[in-house]
Amino acid sequence: MSERFIFTKHRTKCYACGEVADQNIKAVSAQAQVVCSHCGATRIFLPRVEEVGTKGSYTPIGCYDIWEIEADAPCKRCDVTGPHDLIIGCNHFTTRCRNCGYTHFYKFNLEYTARCPIEEEGEGED
Ligand SMILES: [Zn+2]
Ligand SMILES: [Zn+2]
Repeated sequence: MSERFIFTKHRTKCYACGEVADQNIKAVSAQAQVVCSHCGATRIFLPRVEEVGTKGSYTPIGCYDIWEIEADAPCKRCDVTGPHDLIIGCNHFTTRCRNCGYTHFYKFNLEYTARCPIEEEGEGED
């Protein structure tokens, strides 16, 4: 699928490797993900709700680190490409069109560190 909704990055301290590195953020209708450009740690979020919401709805609570980011994206409801508010926490990922308020709400699904097992071959682990 070549669908492109949101594709941006946020430079911050990575929860996995502790380095200040760009966190690549991608969101389409079917999935949202955050990938550390330094260590490859990946968080996957799956969609739960899409609706028109007011600013502040779905603000995640009880999270150690919430990113609030602005990114330009095409809205599938109002068809305007313009600023969207992204709120990314440890359990939630929301995007909201500033033009019409259309909100995608994703819930944290899984995380993994993208280590290639072939690179570790011969290091005596396992
Ligand atoms: Zn990292
Ligand atoms: Zn919109």
